[in-house]
Amino acid sequence: MNAPTKPAADKVVVCVFDGLRPDFITPEQTPNLARFAGQGTWFREARSVFPSMTRVATTSIATGAPPRVHGVMGNAFLFPEVTREHVLDLSRADDIALAEVKTGGRFVEAESFGDVLAKAGKSLAVVHTGSAGSAYLINPRAKANGHWTFSIFGREHTQTPEAVDEVVARFGPLPPRNLPRFEETDYAEQVLREHVLEVMKPDVALVWFNEPDTSFHYRFLGSQETLSVLKHVDAAFGRILDWVAAQPDAERYVVIAASDHGQISSRDALDLVGLLGAQGHAGRRAAERTLEGASFSMTGGNMGEIRILEGGVEKRDAIAAWLREQDLLGMLFSKARNEVEGEVEGSFALPLVDLGHRREPDLVYVLRSGNEVDAYGNPGLGLITKGDVPVGGGMHGGLNHYELNTVLMVQAEGFAPGHVEHGPSGIIDIAPTVLGLLGLAPAASMVGHSLAGANGLEPSARSFETGAGGFRQMVEIVDRGGARFVRQGGRASI
Ligand SMILES: [Zn+2]
Repeated sequence: MNAPTKPAADKVVVCVFDGLRPDFITPEQTPNLARFAGQGTWFREARSVFPSMTRVATTSIATGAPPRVHGVMGNAFLFPEVTREHVLDLSRADDIALAEVKTGGRFVEAESFGDVLAKAGKSLAVVHTGSAGSAYLINPRAKANGHWTFSIFGREHTQTPEAVDEVVARFGPLPPRNLPRFEETDYAEQVLREHVLEVMKPDVALVWFNEPDTSFHYRFLGSQETLSVLKHVDAAFGRILDWVAAQPDAERYVVIAASDHGQISSRDALDLVGLLGAQGHAGRRAAERTLEGASFSMTGGNMGEIRILEGGVEKRDAIAAWLREQDLLGMLFSKARNEVEGEVEGSFALPLVDLGHRREPDLVYVLRSGNEVDAYGNPGLGLITKGDVPVGGGMHGGLNHYELNTVLMVQAEGFAPGHVEHGPSGIIDIAPTVLGLLGLAPAASMVGHSLAGANGLEPSARSFETGAGGFRQMVEIVDRGGARFVRQGGRASI
């Protein structure tokens, strides 16, 4: 298995479309992605990790491992070792910096593909249009690795501010922040093509488009505005493909198209902290940036963590008992009692979905969702907490099929053109695949596999159900050579 072979590629170009659902890829809406799918292998059952949130998924793409290995528990999570003042918000550069200081530079506990590339003397250049945290987490040791990360937010949002200086000097001021993000998409694509690929020529180039995620959230999944930005991002991808095809050594390039998670639409928003407050449980939302007077902290979206600050297991169990009685609850997780069940009655164990870690929260809730269609006819509809996106807007984080199913396409030697692969795969396979294509072995902490070589691994699919009282939940899991993929999970009918 480790026998040295001639690398399949000299250069890898990874294009990530934040939040893109594979069922949105059609010849009409995304002609270039559809064409690309026809030329490469499409891993149609690819899966995100849980929570299916950008910063968690980014870290999993970087490290080829789920949260149980890399330790990033959510987009935001309470991490008392770092601070007891507020919930850590990983979109913020200052919170990430604090976490790095307090963990001695090991906030991300696993090796990333950037680390492996650096050890092999290879370069990685990233063009990022997501938050400072996401730009950081795709190559957490970019500076030490001697790599290059450009952030569309400016020089304070990357470890390598010289990348921003370089780009601004050549391409002019950073683009305006409009919704949909047409200008940011075009600027990032131009930087990737004309600067990174044309001039820098790194071994691995990665561009992260913040669309269609942003428009899915705020302009709804199937709206004309969202579909127009999706087409726009697809056209940007087409220009990248055309550039690669025009190179004299085009056959030495590999292109990977991916997304970090999907999204589902919201049908209603509720004030979960307020509802728990009415039951005598005083809590604070992460966004409040204080824990003063709170007996628990909570993150939101369509799922979140609950950390008990006062009252111990009695408080935890009382909150869980109330949640189980509510129609709003989709799923509930807690620390492991055994391989399947959590300590809390009716809950699943966090390790069952690869979220078991010493940084794990007391409870993880997922709000109820289903596969009903939204106002535009797209399946996937659920509840969200108030305060993030408008009702009708998209959300992700949970275990609905349409949140977990991601885009993953590879065009390279050894990947059958036009083949649609239905075997298990996921974002944790991206890093080992990139490294494998360049002839490099994965880091020891990587759990995913190179997709070029994963075909011989026999998958084993299982489903689990648990519950208590009127609450039942189910989850479907596929294991493949030590890697686990959650197919989907949700509330089960009684
Ligand atoms: Zn995302």
